[in-house]
Amino acid sequence: MNEETLGLELRGAGCRCGSAKKPGETFCQSCYYRLPPAMRRALYRRVGSGYEESYRAAAEFLDLENARFARDLGTSKTPSLPAADSSTVSPVDKRAKRGAS
Ligand SMILES: [Zn+2]
Repeated sequence: MNEETLGLELRGAGCRCGSAKKPGETFCQSCYYRLPPAMRRALYRRVGSGYEESYRAAAEFLDLENARFARDLGTSKTPSLPAADSSTVSPVDKRAKRGAS
């Protein structure tokens, strides 16, 4: 991503996540407030003097957060087991076996 593209995105009204944002701000509020304070401050650098690197780091951070969030959603769902099954095998054993695979 070059400086021109970054500048256009900064002036635009759409966050990279698809939500609306204010022109002149890098991300929408929900993305912005998920960033660590140091990363938020770094986004106040000017394009061409550090902003590009700050943007890339922040975007990478948010992507990792999204991936982690999606994974948590996928694994936190406990499947409803038939009563007969859960009486013979403890849920803990089942979870351990699934995690090992
Ligand atoms: Zn966003």
